[in-house]
Amino acid sequence: MRILILSDIHANLEALEACLEAAPPYDRVFNLGDVVGYGANPNEAAGRARALGSVFVRGNHDKACSGLISLDDFNPVAGLAAMWTRDHLTPDNLSFLRDLPMGPVAPIENVQCVHGSPRDEDEYVFMAREAYSILAHVSVPVTFFGHTHVQGAYWIDDVRETEGVIDPKYSSAQGKQQFPLALEKTAAYLINPGSIGQPRDGDPRAAFALYDTQASSVTFHRVPYDIERAQKKILSAGLPDRLASRLGEGR
Ligand code: ZN
Repeated sequence: MRILILSDIHANLEALEACLEAAPPYDRVFNLGDVVGYGANPNEAAGRARALGSVFVRGNHDKACSGLISLDDFNPVAGLAAMWTRDHLTPDNLSFLRDLPMGPVAPIENVQCVHGSPRDEDEYVFMAREAYSILAHVSVPVTFFGHTHVQGAYWIDDVRETEGVIDPKYSSAQGKQQFPLALEKTAAYLINPGSIGQPRDGDPRAAFALYDTQASSVTFHRVPYDIERAQKKILSAGLPDRLASRLGEGR
C-alpha cells in the first residue's frame, strides 16, 4: 500500500493542489492536522482534504479555529489568523474540525499518526534528544508527526544500538525534488513529512511524504507552487502581512 502523508496544510490551497498534482500514485491519505489557520482558503483546503479520505488527527490550529480552545497561548499573529478563520469557516467545516480525533491514531498495523508527539498532541519535537526519549516508549515502528513544519526523521535501533537524524538533502533548491529513506526492520522511526502550506525549514517549497508499506520506504518530496498567488490572497483577506512574507522565506 502506498500512503500519502500530508501535514500542516494551513489553508494554503495553492500548495495543496501543487502537492496533489505532483504526488505519485497512492492508495490512501493520512492527514496529520492543522488543515486550517494562517492561509486564506480554509474552506477550500478543508473541502479538498476531506475529499481525500477520513484518516486525520487534529492540530492545535484546528482546535483554535473551531473554538475548542482559547487563543491565549497563541502569539498575536496566529491568534488574529485563528479569529479570521473562525469567522470565515462554514458551519459544516467548523463541526468537521471540532470533531477531529486527538492523536495518536493508528489507521493500520505498525503505524501511528500524531500532530505533535505520541505523549502530547501539542508538543514540538525539534531536538534529537526529545525524539529519542519518545522513541524509547513507542510500541509501533513508524510514527508520523507534524506540528514543527520541519521535514525529516529521527530513528533509534535498539538491536544495533544506534540512532540518528534524517535531514533530507536535495540536489537542487529548484523544481520538484525527492529524497528516499529505506526503513530498517529493527528500528523505530518518528517521521515528519514537512508542512504543505507553511514550511519553516528554510525551503519554501511545499512538503509531503509517501510511505510505501510493501517496499518499507518513505520518500520525502518538495514541490514548488504559486507562492505569490497564496501571498496575494493572504494580503487581500486582511490577514497579517507576516503570514504572506514568511511563505517566500520558508520560515
Ligand atoms: Zn501547524
